[in-house]
Amino acid sequence: MKGSELRRKYVEFFREKGHDIMPSASLVPQDDASLLWINSGMAPLKKYFDGRVVPPNVRMTNSQKCIRTNDIENVGKTARHQTFFEMLGNFSIGDYFKREAIHWAWEFITDRLGMEVERLSVTIHPEDEEAYLIWQREIGVAKEKILRLDENFWDIGEGPCGPNSEIFYDRGKDVGCGRPECDASCDCDRHLEIWNLVFSQYNHNPDGSYTPLPKKNIDTGMGLERTASVLQNVATNFDTDLFLPIIQEAARLIHVNYGTSTDVDTKLKIIADHVRTVAFSITDGVSPSNEGRGYVIRRLLRRAVRSGKQLGYSQPFLHQLVGVVGEVMGDYYPEVLHKREYVERLIRIEEERFFETLTEGEALLTQVMKQVKSLDQQMIPGDQAFKLYDTYGFPVDLTEEIALENGLTVDREGFTLALEEQRTRARSARQDVGSMQVQTTVLRDLDVASSFVGYTEYATVAKIE
Ligand code: ATP
Ligand code: MG
Ligand code: MG
Ligand code: MG
Repeated sequence: MKGSELRRKYVEFFREKGHDIMPSASLVPQDDASLLWINSGMAPLKKYFDGRVVPPNVRMTNSQKCIRTNDIENVGKTARHQTFFEMLGNFSIGDYFKREAIHWAWEFITDRLGMEVERLSVTIHPEDEEAYLIWQREIGVAKEKILRLDENFWDIGEGPCGPNSEIFYDRGKDVGCGRPECDASCDCDRHLEIWNLVFSQYNHNPDGSYTPLPKKNIDTGMGLERTASVLQNVATNFDTDLFLPIIQEAARLIHVNYGTSTDVDTKLKIIADHVRTVAFSITDGVSPSNEGRGYVIRRLLRRAVRSGKQLGYSQPFLHQLVGVVGEVMGDYYPEVLHKREYVERLIRIEEERFFETLTEGEALLTQVMKQVKSLDQQMIPGDQAFKLYDTYGFPVDLTEEIALENGLTVDREGFTLALEEQRTRARSARQDVGSMQVQTTVLRDLDVASSFVGYTEYATVAKIE
């Protein structure tokens, strides 16, 4: 089943169940300062969930484009994470609840999609007996395939919250960590989380107590690419029809082959993912810049170009992928092809600018290396590596790579120190630690390990600081 068919099937299925099909909202949140990007299907519908606006229909369904920068380190490494992905969802605003949400989810994946029941398992919150009984007695899921996990509770501080339940697909014992006891609680690629059902049934009160909500809500999110990978029986999201044409075109442009080495494949996946993120956000009105969303886009674009460079291709190429992105996604998102020329031009200019910066940075680095050698030393000082990073966009491993080629090393500790000093300065200069800045910080620190961020980026990201 093609990705586009799955998308249609999903929203059609829930339309049959009385839901309104909502269009995919812009990646840029509207009237919501707590979010940098739309990062779930529920995010653009928040106004209905918190009661600010009464929806025309209390049942809604959508396929929503999402950006999650917190997953950046996983892209190309796991089989299942992108920075740009689509979330299929069905929503109930004070209407149906757990029973229907669970029954319909099961009906959709087993009956409509034909997934093998033996491969499925679910997780619930340890105290959610109601969900347990529905899964076990009504659906017939075996006891040992219902895992109780403390983390299955969706809570963003004050406001509606509740337990959630997730559905996993077992790719088989040859995939992932290889431990015989591997199950849905493992972080490897074997048990693939495909669908999250959130049961918002409590209010988290200002005093920290929880009281039942008079009107309970349902918010679900199914990963389009992950589910497509199961249906197409391929190893990763990147091997589905939603990605392969982009990867193959990238491989052709930069003269490498996909499927011959893990390293090449990882970089091609990064390129294919990031170009989708960049193309879709430019289409939604974000331009590369030095702050906020524009900065995110700039960093992602540079990361993609750099992946190409590491594969031996040192010319702008990313803009040439916009056409294939537009074609692959055109069925549901005609907007990319409509703005194709504009998007291509913006990406090309940005790529060219990046190469100029790299050339300038390389000149500086050559100078620094000469100096170090003339002093009979072997290490590039940390503050110089930091300057290259901060001013010229040189990730420290690039500096290290070039240093190594010249028989030198980089003072990593000094670099980290300079980086931390800058962050401390930035933090203390910041009056308002809004989620937007925090998320920007997360992205600025991309080259450093990023922290895990869960279901609601805007909630958990705040914990990073
Ligand atoms: P994971 O644990 O795999 O990182 P998650 O628990 O963070 O996923 P949810 O917030 O529950 O994900 O989002 C609902 C669904 O969206 C997931 O079950 C998954 O199918 C999909 N999804 C989440 N993050 C990504 C991503 N980075 N790339 C592709 N699909 C994703
Ligand atoms: Mg998860
Ligand atoms: Mg989840
Ligand atoms: Mg996640």
